[in-house]
Amino acid sequence: MPIIEKISSEAIINLENKYGAHNYHPLPVVLNRGEGVYVWDVDGKKYYDFLSAYSAVNQGHCHPKIVGAMVNQAQTLTLTSRAFYNDKLGPYEEFVTKFFGFDKVLPMNTGAEAVETALKLCRKWAYEVKGIAEHEAQIIVCENNFHGRTTTIISFSNDENARKNFGPFTAGFIKIPYNDIDALEKVLATSKNIAGFLVEPIQGEAGVYTPSDDYMMKAKNLCNANNVLFIADEIQTGIARTGSLLAVCGNCSCENKCERQETYATPDILILGKALSGGAYPVSAVLANDAIMNVIKPGQHGSTFGGNPIAAAVAIAALEVVDEENLIQNARFLGKLFRSKLNEYIQTSSIATLVRGRGLLNAIVINDTEESDTAWNICMALRDNGLLAKPTHGNIIRFAPPLVMNEEQLLDCVSIIITTLKAFEK
Ligand SMILES: *Cc1c(COP(=O)(O)O)cnc(C)c1O
Repeated sequence: MPIIEKISSEAIINLENKYGAHNYHPLPVVLNRGEGVYVWDVDGKKYYDFLSAYSAVNQGHCHPKIVGAMVNQAQTLTLTSRAFYNDKLGPYEEFVTKFFGFDKVLPMNTGAEAVETALKLCRKWAYEVKGIAEHEAQIIVCENNFHGRTTTIISFSNDENARKNFGPFTAGFIKIPYNDIDALEKVLATSKNIAGFLVEPIQGEAGVYTPSDDYMMKAKNLCNANNVLFIADEIQTGIARTGSLLAVCGNCSCENKCERQETYATPDILILGKALSGGAYPVSAVLANDAIMNVIKPGQHGSTFGGNPIAAAVAIAALEVVDEENLIQNARFLGKLFRSKLNEYIQTSSIATLVRGRGLLNAIVINDTEESDTAWNICMALRDNGLLAKPTHGNIIRFAPPLVMNEEQLLDCVSIIITTLKAFEK
């Protein structure tokens, strides 16, 4: 591109500042190309992507199979709305339900919409199947949850920044501490009209807060015993990210789809998004069996773009890539290697105190206060050293590369991370 036409990073950032709402605080790097585990900035500098768009790009940037499916479908038929049938939705619905082992799917676009859909489905089931009196249904959620940004979802967030001056809020939610099975047991025993329990198998936004291995299974069993729907938000943790197809599989030894493993807790309602399209297109889904999903009748819920032919074609390709390229096994193997290398370093580190996570969803805790800018400064230095990551909560940095990474690349990244951290030691 001729120099004259090329806009500098600074100019592009200024455009966003001037014309865009300031609802994000991006790391100052302007990307214009991605391939596999790499992204490039406008000056041609290459980086390892260690965020993967919050785990949407599990299959790697611009995966040729996924892009191919998208381009093909875009040239054929893009949108019919659900007023008519299209020839891609039915085959996708069969594919995705068999892939995850449910009777039915309700297709949406973004993660937050799928969470909203799950909440509506849970409430409707509570009134029409469980027999709770209208307007009385309660859904249990966890402290420090992140489920998206709609008014109802932020109603049960405890992130003041996400809530302040956005009220009034939606009623009907009870908050309990995360990873506290006694708290769940107690609220189920003492509260009336409980319809569901909505939970992240690992709290990604909260800082990759990883619960004990049996938390999901015990929570599911308690829900079962109380006729309460166990709703898993796997938007960030699902689709191979944590070294199993779903993170509700826990830390079992099975290397594929873990239905028969001891720690596996089949959700009554499963929420997927992000990597369901490999980051190519907004595709989300709510999965459940007939006894639950059949409470939704024509006209009661919908979305103009939900289940459109491009989304259907892209999602099939994205899930096929997960199997064809063994992303579950790769995430599991590289995750163990990553944590063991970082743990080795942390033994003697004065700047990093902890690494935690499962598969390739990990975080390190920086030895400074949540209010400090140390983690941000480390991310700036990582950027300068060719690796992009971002703090989640003040002093926590999430590390979530695309799952198509190989061992050599991962070791290269470990070396960049450790070298960078060492420069911050006192
Ligand atoms: C990203 C995310 C969401 C929201 O998805 P959007 O597509 O941003 O609306 C919900 N839940 C979890 C766990 C997420 O990580």
